Amino acid sequence: MELILNFDKAVKKIKKANYSVVGLQLPEGLKPKACLIAKTISEKCNCEVIINAEPCFGACDLADEKLKSLGAQALLHVGHLPLLEKTAIPVIYVEGKYETKKDSIDLQTLQAIEKKIKEKKIALIATAQYTGFLEDMKAGLEKTGKKALIGGKTKRTPVNGQVLGCDFSTLDNTSMEFDAILFIGDGLFHPLGATIYSSKPVYVYRPHSKDISLLDKSFKDKFLKKRFGLIDAASRCKVFGVAVSRKKGQERLSLAKELVEKIKKSGKTAFLIDTENISAEQLTNLDLDCYVNTACPRITFDGIAKLNKPVVSPAEIEIALGLRKWEDFELDSLSG
Ligand code: SF4
Repeated sequence: MELILNFDKAVKKIKKANYSVVGLQLPEGLKPKACLIAKTISEKCNCEVIINAEPCFGACDLADEKLKSLGAQALLHVGHLPLLEKTAIPVIYVEGKYETKKDSIDLQTLQAIEKKIKEKKIALIATAQYTGFLEDMKAGLEKTGKKALIGGKTKRTPVNGQVLGCDFSTLDNTSMEFDAILFIGDGLFHPLGATIYSSKPVYVYRPHSKDISLLDKSFKDKFLKKRFGLIDAASRCKVFGVAVSRKKGQERLSLAKELVEKIKKSGKTAFLIDTENISAEQLTNLDLDCYVNTACPRITFDGIAKLNKPVVSPAEIEIALGLRKWEDFELDSLSG
């Protein structure tokens, strides 16, 4: 199964606007194609293309301002769906999607649904690249006698049923209550996020293998145990850094300032830390006891490699300070 990137509309837009300099931004996985894309766009549109080589993990992190300062009149952003409303220069999105073929939800998948999924009302979610499977899967579930629901768009997700690592709130936008969730995509972070967000069982459908499995409860338990260990460690720290990101779609300055005040009020020391990319290289020499991350929630939950200090979320620091109950743990989210 191949990720489809269609540049036809982007080429038309660049030609129509007669841009002479265009910026190009891609996620890490697509960087090997950067030179080929830049060459093709440059030749087809008779324009100069500047490749942005900084790490990019989502459309929350547009390089519009940086590329504008280098003379770009528009930004070609590849691999993510739109997230931000205001940008310094026009942004042309080229989304990456796995193509769905007719009857992609075949007999093998229907049999797996019948065998594995016992619940009747199922909410369907997918990451951006797999949203093309949602309607076919809905029809498949309904063929097996189940009720399938796809939640609406959110402020951060322009496609029905789409989830991000920082936004599962499409699950609040379904037309009725559901008993379980079926996630379509790769990896375990999103299914884990969905089960913590909703407290419902989550099944995972992997389109490449057509495999359906129930997310193991021990995975959630292990994750929570690790988080509670970090909260406990944070509760014993004295000097905190509250990291705030300058990336437009991750910046939560007011929340960061509120947390600094809360930490200070509890008799401890706290500083606001300005970062663009949060990494051990940037933070280690600051020699703080604990970090509170208000940027992308995945940074907190995936951890910061080589940083031997606790990194906690806004809700977790509140628990560590005794301002929130342990039972009120929640996954950090930028959906509000
Ligand atoms: S904040 Fe993190 S999870 Fe949300 S879109 Fe950006 S990179 Fe993805």
